[in-house]
Amino acid sequence: MIRLGLIGYPISASVSPKIHHAALKEAGLEGEYKLYTIHPNDIQGLKNLLAKVRTDEIDGLNVTIPHKQNVIPLVDELSYTAATIGAVNTIVLEDGKLIGHNTDAPGFWNDLQELLGQKEVQNQNALILGSGGAARAVVYALLDAGWNITLATRKADIPQAENLISDFATRNTQYAKKLSNIELKMATLSPLLSSLSLIVNATPVGMKSHHAGTPWPKELPFPSHAALYDLIYTPSETQFMQDAKNARLATRNGLGMLIGQALLSFEIWTGKKVSTEKIEKFIMK
Ligand code: NAP
Repeated sequence: MIRLGLIGYPISASVSPKIHHAALKEAGLEGEYKLYTIHPNDIQGLKNLLAKVRTDEIDGLNVTIPHKQNVIPLVDELSYTAATIGAVNTIVLEDGKLIGHNTDAPGFWNDLQELLGQKEVQNQNALILGSGGAARAVVYALLDAGWNITLATRKADIPQAENLISDFATRNTQYAKKLSNIELKMATLSPLLSSLSLIVNATPVGMKSHHAGTPWPKELPFPSHAALYDLIYTPSETQFMQDAKNARLATRNGLGMLIGQALLSFEIWTGKKVSTEKIEKFIMK
């Protein structure tokens, strides 16, 4: 019996249990995946739960908002990816040590290949909208593959974007040359358009019952040679994706990333690989 779970707040609407229960079934393992709702300020609650991983009462945990950073001082080691991104989404006990991993970045990268196909990616230019937690994972994945990245944020978020760049530059000086940031508005985006191969929406704008509309400035045309990856997966097609599709851009939503990161966590805990397609069919039912 393998005992897994998710720490976060709020998490009652999470689809992770559905994905992991399907993965357990597919891998032929008996197990459970529980939701552990821990209030944003409840660091003792986090410590108590991690103690259960140390004593093998829990075999593996996923971590989501708002605890992806909070668990960092509570684990013994971070993978290089988790340390560079500055966020942990997977915890496991390895040789008596609590290790924090981040599978969001490879989950995104693997799924991005479905959108880009065999396109050359070295030194291509990507525009990422937003500079929060998910943007950090996207930045890591793209930098690792050789992309140049511009972060576009609301004016108020420019310091957040600058912090992201400075954190990555501190980790690896080569990253600094590949990262820049601008304000998300027509005048600053216009000159970039012709150079872009990829746009990634890492803001919550367009999410079901959250934020209506699109983060793309109203009068701004879409770059003709770019593809759009929207991290949002509910709705399955955001207004942003619809508008980009109308302008003949290839688009993809974040469902594949969601399933991909989950299955990479599952592999870390169980050593079993489960195919994304099998779980996707199950989730779409
Ligand atoms: P986050 O840490 O809150 O970051 C969101 C970013 O978007 C912040 O920079 C935020 O700025 C900015 N933002 C908010 N409203 C905006 C607006 N109206 N216009 C422009 N920027 C705005 O959230 P996150 O964890 O990065 O998640 C971002 C999105 O990715 C969510 O929709 C989430 O569901 C999705 N996601 C998907 C996956 C997946 O597996 N597919 C994984 C992770 C996240 P402020 O900080 O100022 O609000």
